[in-house]
Amino acid sequence: MTDKSKSAKPASIKPRAVRGMNDILPEVSTTWRYLETAVQEIVESYGYAEIRLPLLEHTELFTRSIGEVTDIVEKEMYTFADRNGESLTLRPEATASMVRAGMTNGLFHNQKQKLWTTGPMFRYEKPQKGRYRQFYQFDVEAMGYDGPDVDAELIIMSARMWQRLGISKINLQINSLGTPAARADYRAALVEYFSGVKNQLDEDSIRRLEQNPLRILDSKNPEMREIVEAAPVMLDYLDEDSAEHFRGLKSLLDAAGVAYSVNPRLVRGLDYYSRTVFEWVTDALGSQGAVCSGGRYDGLVEKLGGRTTPAVGWAMGIERFVALYEACGGETPAANADVYLAALGEGTVRRAFALAEELRDELAGIRIEMNLGGGSFKSQMKRADKSGAEFALILGEQELAEGRIGIKPMRNADEQTTVALDELAATLKRQLS
Ligand code: ATP
Ligand code: MG
Repeated sequence: MTDKSKSAKPASIKPRAVRGMNDILPEVSTTWRYLETAVQEIVESYGYAEIRLPLLEHTELFTRSIGEVTDIVEKEMYTFADRNGESLTLRPEATASMVRAGMTNGLFHNQKQKLWTTGPMFRYEKPQKGRYRQFYQFDVEAMGYDGPDVDAELIIMSARMWQRLGISKINLQINSLGTPAARADYRAALVEYFSGVKNQLDEDSIRRLEQNPLRILDSKNPEMREIVEAAPVMLDYLDEDSAEHFRGLKSLLDAAGVAYSVNPRLVRGLDYYSRTVFEWVTDALGSQGAVCSGGRYDGLVEKLGGRTTPAVGWAMGIERFVALYEACGGETPAANADVYLAALGEGTVRRAFALAEELRDELAGIRIEMNLGGGSFKSQMKRADKSGAEFALILGEQELAEGRIGIKPMRNADEQTTVALDELAATLKRQLS
């Protein structure tokens, strides 16, 4: 033993997981994969293409895009200096990175983009059910489109996901935040209103009153609810073009049969939104009810130094999506072994290994689990049962000598049969289809 290993901590102290960061175990990850695949297929069918983005960006990207006076930037970012002293941040959301990637790679020059991405996001929040510090989002963004048609398409696309997956306990709320100029008038009205009730505001809201009064509307403090309810609403300050855009969106949703309610207090927690904002909410998951949220951010690319590029998108929280799917009775198709290959006696394991590989060559998509670690007939059958396999294949010394193999149905009382080894693949193909 070296000195170094002697000074290491005793092995009895177990490593801990970081608070708010979860392991997604196999019985859960099958559901995740099933749902993620379904969503990917749907968005690809609308012409969205995948982009994969880094988890780290320069901190400035998020402070400039999300806004200095927002929950995310004020208190939720994982920010650190790298070895070179540069301030980097683990992405709290994907839109800013998507815009940055578009600019870095020249994707906005006379081009439109419809992109999707997925992966972990990081926010230093108070962990609770449906709210974690590492959580996953599925994110879609359309860049270069300015009409309400793309806003409608993005929403219709999400409605299709719920429908395809049998998710019913979900409602759509929409609002319009207008243009920056219209919002400036609205901001003034909000400052006037909230100043009048300043003695009833919480600490956060008082601070935001001067810097970013719209954020008060997004307050999560229940004591602020009544004051927020009585505040002036953005829709009364909407400029004519934005009002027209909003009417266009509503009429396309009506035509598509997508039900919505207009929530004039929906502002979203990020500064970059303009015009359309929307949120799919559920009351089936307790207080973490926002499942999929999005909106238009026509000014963001320009604000970050690019050319004016209208854009709109949404992000869905995968943990909440999975929980809602289950709350609506959704099930995941079993992903167990279809075939369990047991090998008994001298010399059979080598042949069984080769046989398993041959079957994997010929029966793509069928799971073939090889018995590992030997064991008696009884213990191998026990494992076969636990694997969920439809059939156990039994290769004993006698079978091997005769060039045959036993097929034992595991899910019913049917008799075990025997087939010639060179007919095995064809037989299984028939029986498993
Ligand atoms: P909330 O109001 O619940 O804090 P948000 O407005 O901060 O949500 P967005 O930034 O719009 O959320 O992110 C889009 C989606 O990501 C949300 O609708 C939600 O499903 C999910 N989400 C956001 N924060 C978390 C988190 N900490 N843990 C799990 N999911 C999250
Ligand atoms: Mg939040």
